[in-house]
Amino acid sequence: MSHDSRTAPRICPLCEATCGLTLTIEGTTVTGARGDRDDIFSRGFICPKGASFGGLDADPDRLRVPLVRGDDGELRETTWEAAFDLIAARMPDLVKAHGPQAVGVVLGNPNVHTMAGSLYPPLLLAALRTRNVFTASTLDQMPKHVSSGLLFGDAHAIPVPDLDRTDHLLLIGANPLESNGSLCTAPDFPGRLRALRRRGGTLTVIDPRRTRTARLADRHVAIRPGADALLLAALAHTLIDEKLADPGPLAEHLDGIDELAAALTDFTPDAVAAACDVDAATITAIARELAAAPTAAVYGRIGSCTVEHGTLASWLVDVLNILTGNLDRPGGALFPLAATARAPRAAEPGTRSAVPGKGFALGRWSSRVSGHPEAKGELPIAALAEEIDTPGEGRIRALVVVAANPVLSAPDGDRLDAALGDKLDFMVSVDPYLNETSRHADVVLPPPPPSQSAHFDFAFNSFAVHNQVRYTRAAVPLEDERMDESEIHARLILAVSGMHGAPPAAVDDLAVDTALTRAGAPKELAAELTGESGPERRLDLMLRLGPYGLTLEQLLAHPHGIDLGPLKPRLTEVLRTRSGRIELLPEPIAADLPRLRRALGDRPAPLVLVGRRHLRSNNSWMHNVGSLTGGSNVCTLQIHPDDAARVGLVDGATARIESAGGGIEAPAEITDTVRSGVVSLPHGWGHSRPGTRMSVAAAHPGANVNQLLDGTLLDPLSGTAVLNAIPVSVTPAR
Ligand code: SF4
Repeated sequence: MSHDSRTAPRICPLCEATCGLTLTIEGTTVTGARGDRDDIFSRGFICPKGASFGGLDADPDRLRVPLVRGDDGELRETTWEAAFDLIAARMPDLVKAHGPQAVGVVLGNPNVHTMAGSLYPPLLLAALRTRNVFTASTLDQMPKHVSSGLLFGDAHAIPVPDLDRTDHLLLIGANPLESNGSLCTAPDFPGRLRALRRRGGTLTVIDPRRTRTARLADRHVAIRPGADALLLAALAHTLIDEKLADPGPLAEHLDGIDELAAALTDFTPDAVAAACDVDAATITAIARELAAAPTAAVYGRIGSCTVEHGTLASWLVDVLNILTGNLDRPGGALFPLAATARAPRAAEPGTRSAVPGKGFALGRWSSRVSGHPEAKGELPIAALAEEIDTPGEGRIRALVVVAANPVLSAPDGDRLDAALGDKLDFMVSVDPYLNETSRHADVVLPPPPPSQSAHFDFAFNSFAVHNQVRYTRAAVPLEDERMDESEIHARLILAVSGMHGAPPAAVDDLAVDTALTRAGAPKELAAELTGESGPERRLDLMLRLGPYGLTLEQLLAHPHGIDLGPLKPRLTEVLRTRSGRIELLPEPIAADLPRLRRALGDRPAPLVLVGRRHLRSNNSWMHNVGSLTGGSNVCTLQIHPDDAARVGLVDGATARIESAGGGIEAPAEITDTVRSGVVSLPHGWGHSRPGTRMSVAAAHPGANVNQLLDGTLLDPLSGTAVLNAIPVSVTPAR
């Protein structure tokens, strides 16, 4: 280290694991990153993405100042004042002329990886009063939210596997050795799985690919893609049929167990075996192992979510945890308690029962064109293009896109690309890059690099396998000309709501006031809040109102975090159903089961496509970092040797992949890690469109897998796009 170098702690924002990093900083440049050995949660773990923090932070393609589209159609750098002036001049008038539904909002998943992205979008949505809200959740995790909403009455009450104490872990459609975990925040997920094996526990992995995670397992079941819900239903059926179901103390909180048993009657191991391509004896053995384990947890992720029966699969994951008595007990699947969570609700006085809540409703409104029901206040992002390009009353005419690149991440990017280019009156992107989506914006507002922002994980602490809290301030000062991300959000909210020119702090003051009112806390508390910025004051308030009664000052005194202890049973604090009980067979689920029953007789397509995750990538975000490109992080079509021989493909040759939605080409990678009948392409690629400013990504564009989809295939309960188990044909490209 040179004499002017120093180190600073920083929570890594590059995936859901939230590892603590120690950054090396020369002047104001991050020159290195290593795992923070003193971090109370990650204890020194780091992956290649975290180690590339400096490269990502200093990417010369990052925008520094806003871009505004001139009369000649070109985007040019401008001042922050001019950018917000333009938004204020256009957006309120547009809403006045066409109503609030004329504005659509798209929120990408990087929002939950920044402090400002977590704190301000709810205020933006409140200011715009639009129902045209689209997020990455309908490309990913919405089935989990919907199943939790229906079972527990709270879409955010997602139990996580108690990784460090469980005796048996069943993973379905999850590859944490590459993803480092999702909806399950666990720094060093690989190490935690190895520790499970070392302490004599067992790991079962159900995945059509022999992933790195599957290679670690005691048992790997290469299921046919898309059949997860059938297999899970057969496991639940077996537990009930063989009288192995034993919810234990959960029984007093359950409604509908007899109805559940009746609803699953048809899903015997024999009945699902052909559709799953898993023999009945294996299914029965997995169910018996689950029941016999002293403690066990079932965890399903993206491969089981982004399929036709995604919500049913997500529901069945928790049904299995409930039937085996593993929900809400140490070693099973537990509900984390974050430091900024709502203060827990007490049980009904004099009882051990939960206080009845408001429950969870689906379909309170529908999308204009296809009538898709809302879920959690969102419409399917697969329907965004048609909501823009289909004429008629209520059409989306203006779009605010915050940290999202739906041209690459949503189905049929070509249609959305055309809609953004031709059909919008006005578009704002909050994005550090000029990418495939933001290139269409009239105004691009770039947030600063992560080293120049403070960090707190509002979302991921709610999915953490150990209760803890950590906060890191900006590691280097904000560069000249840049604007803090929270100020960008606050000014955007003011500009779209006709309050342009008001101080940005007014937005935080309003948020503090609203939070105090909701909590029934004295307004005087506002004057006691500490912090150097609006977000810090809001964090201080949330900590004070939270279940541990912490303060920002305490967090600042513990730069490596505060350990809040292992997860504890807290079901009665969590339940918000109208009955105050777990509703095992909610009506929307029961109504969707006939669709699953029909799938028992489906003839499987000869070749289906699944996605895959790369350790050195995260969706489309990191394809512009030279140190993370190449090697295993390449956009190839993985195909089994038997299938390759059948269609006449050789390794490295260009394959043509066709589906009902379209066709793309990618180099073939022949490997027996995919089962026969399955091919795999990663997502987030396709950086070949003109007008972007991402030089590294453009040099390695890859193919956009979502171009194989036309956006019509959705899981009906959650509106989530079907991204896995897509029937395709593969041929050598001409
Ligand atoms: S595992 Fe995730 S949080 Fe940890 S260093 Fe890697 S990218 Fe960062």
